[in-house]
Amino acid sequence: MDGKLFLRALSQITQEVASEHDLTKAMALLVQNIRKTTDADCCSLYLFDEFRKRYRLVASDGLLQQAVGKVTLRADEGLVSVVGSTGELLNLADALSHPNFKYLPEVGEDEYLSFLGVPVLNKGDLLGVLVVQSKVKQMFGEQEESFLVTLAAQLGSLIARSKEENSVEEDVLQRIKGLASTGDIAIAPALVWQPEVSLEDVRIQHGDDPLMQVELFNQVLFQLQIEMDRATLKMQEGDKGQAVFGYISSYGSLLDDASIQDEITRTIEDGKYLATSAVRIVIERLLAEAKKQGQNDRVIDLKDFGQVLVSRLIHACNQEFDFSEPVILVMENMPSSMVAELPADKIAGFVTTSQDTSAHATVLARDLGIPSVLGVNLNVNDIDGHTIIVDGHNCEVILDPPESVVDEFKQLVNQNREQRDLFARESMKPVDCLDGQHIVIGLNAGLNQNNESNLIGETDCIGLYRSEIAFMLCQTFPSEQQQFDWYSHLLESFAPKPVCIRTLDIGSDKGLSYLPNKEANPALGWRGVRVTLDMPNIMYTQLRALLRAHQKYGNLELMIPMVSRLEEVVAVKKAIIEVANELRGKTAQEVTLPRFGVMIEVPACAYMMDELSREVDFFSIGSNDLTQYLLAVDRSNPKVSRFFDHFHPCVVRCLHELARKAEANGKRINVCGEIAGDPLGALMLLSLGYTSLSMNYSYIARIKYILRRVSFAQLREVGKQALTLTESSQIKALYDNYANAQGLGRIIALSNQESASEINAKHF
Ligand code: PEP
Ligand code: MG
Repeated sequence: MDGKLFLRALSQITQEVASEHDLTKAMALLVQNIRKTTDADCCSLYLFDEFRKRYRLVASDGLLQQAVGKVTLRADEGLVSVVGSTGELLNLADALSHPNFKYLPEVGEDEYLSFLGVPVLNKGDLLGVLVVQSKVKQMFGEQEESFLVTLAAQLGSLIARSKEENSVEEDVLQRIKGLASTGDIAIAPALVWQPEVSLEDVRIQHGDDPLMQVELFNQVLFQLQIEMDRATLKMQEGDKGQAVFGYISSYGSLLDDASIQDEITRTIEDGKYLATSAVRIVIERLLAEAKKQGQNDRVIDLKDFGQVLVSRLIHACNQEFDFSEPVILVMENMPSSMVAELPADKIAGFVTTSQDTSAHATVLARDLGIPSVLGVNLNVNDIDGHTIIVDGHNCEVILDPPESVVDEFKQLVNQNREQRDLFARESMKPVDCLDGQHIVIGLNAGLNQNNESNLIGETDCIGLYRSEIAFMLCQTFPSEQQQFDWYSHLLESFAPKPVCIRTLDIGSDKGLSYLPNKEANPALGWRGVRVTLDMPNIMYTQLRALLRAHQKYGNLELMIPMVSRLEEVVAVKKAIIEVANELRGKTAQEVTLPRFGVMIEVPACAYMMDELSREVDFFSIGSNDLTQYLLAVDRSNPKVSRFFDHFHPCVVRCLHELARKAEANGKRINVCGEIAGDPLGALMLLSLGYTSLSMNYSYIARIKYILRRVSFAQLREVGKQALTLTESSQIKALYDNYANAQGLGRIIALSNQESASEINAKHF
């Protein structure tokens, strides 16, 4: 290169780049200009990410644009790392023969032979590495070397300046609402997890050795299967819950799916495609099919599966969790392939950005027991390493909170912890109110089956076991034996305490991927007992499994959801008797009938309590659905969540009437909807005459603590007043005042701060 030309180009590039305020654009401009001026075939810039300890490709003229912003290299990986770690220029005629060379076929680096890399430094700190490459096997000249070194120095100060400008604190607090959330509060730096090479980035290419490509594919598959077996074993030994396990197995079943493997192999052989291309072709076809059928969970699993296959085929490295401090994982969806390996102590919380929050993800989030907000519409480009607050109670994330906000949240976390300790001290004691009235406290379960045996001492029974959750985590309808194993485990671990299992409650917000069902108004559609009765084989299989488990342990109670007609109750009861007779015949052993109940969720039931009472042993109020149907408010629609109100005078009056009718008919009645776990809600229920509540585990200790400090008789008086009021705020105030008078004001205030929206709680 001519010396004068070089100087002119240098000053021109520096000016152009310096006048571009957007750093990303400035870097793109820079690499284009350098490539043109040096006559190289490719120029790329890698910046070092201190937080992740990796180099990220941030601009390139010559490599595939899809790879820009995505491809990263470990601090000790590739020629880039040699330049970075030595701080010295590296000029090679044949880069491929260098021991540190790392081949990344998907970035389109195949044709480049020579390599010249210089470090980008600012005041001695390494910011990145600037690289030019050429197709000719020949070292770059001295002119190019000094040109690149000079530009790298200019670039160093430009990047440092831009970083300083961006770190100026924002005044506006960025709070972003999610679609669903779980758990508590977490404060930590965000770690954005993105696949290095996404399926869409794979180029459709033909190769000349299909046999080799098939072999490569088989090797990768085999390796993944071994890893999967290892992960499964680890899960079985560990204490991760049933949902996590189910999540993993859905990914495992894709790995074992012979038809997918065959189709990929055939695509390689017939079309002479590279293995990566064949994976893309087949997975995209399956994705289109799954999308058409509305199989949201399968779409997510397939995407993840394709991603993992492609990454392994091109040897892209896995993201590693080598962080000294816990982080908040931010990702589009939680990939199943990651779940088994998640180091719980390094993950403070997680956030997903996909607006299609799958049932899997929500169930999983709850089971992992990590604070999370799902479905957050978030631009992930600028948040890596930034502090983020995950507020599981309010279903929102706060980005880059100022110190004062962080302090406030830390205080809340501490207060919550102190309170939890306080509640935990008496969590094993029974709930006897101040006037001696005993209140039965049940557990709502269905997720963390493995851990439930620890809860026996804290609860009187399982008041609601949502049997559909286990179904949701399968790929096909579970067999009778599989169900028998689940129910037996559950009954055995709680015996002799009663376990109330609800028959399959699918439809509306709880779908099965293997039973696609699209309806205009799913909440008013084919759900609960309607589905069960329409599919007798599914119903009988479940009843057989339940009764066999009951025959063995004797503590089953059985109830049916979404009842709206007496005939439904009669039909299920008849089926139970039939199954019991059949079992008696088969085993020649006695089978007592389990206590049988209906869930009161449809307001119609309030008008036939006398008739229903003749058929059942007990009632259980699903207040989530009852409120939804009574007030005509979709419980999962955030637009109308302000109208979803358990303290609405009509809800209160209806609950009172139901308790009265059950008592008049001599039937037990309990409440297992979310209201039972809400402090003021629980007071309201006692005031209306309820003495049996069932709730999620996270609410139990607090509710027990509160109810041990109130008088049932006094609350009954408060209830009488509530029934005369016409506004929900007045009704709520009544219970608030009573709680204050009992010295419970602080606990109620804190729990109000935590109050989760209905959508937040809908899956749990
Ligand atoms: C309810 O509707 O209150 C209930 C307990 O059932 P689910 O929330 O599972 O619909
Ligand atoms: Mg319900």
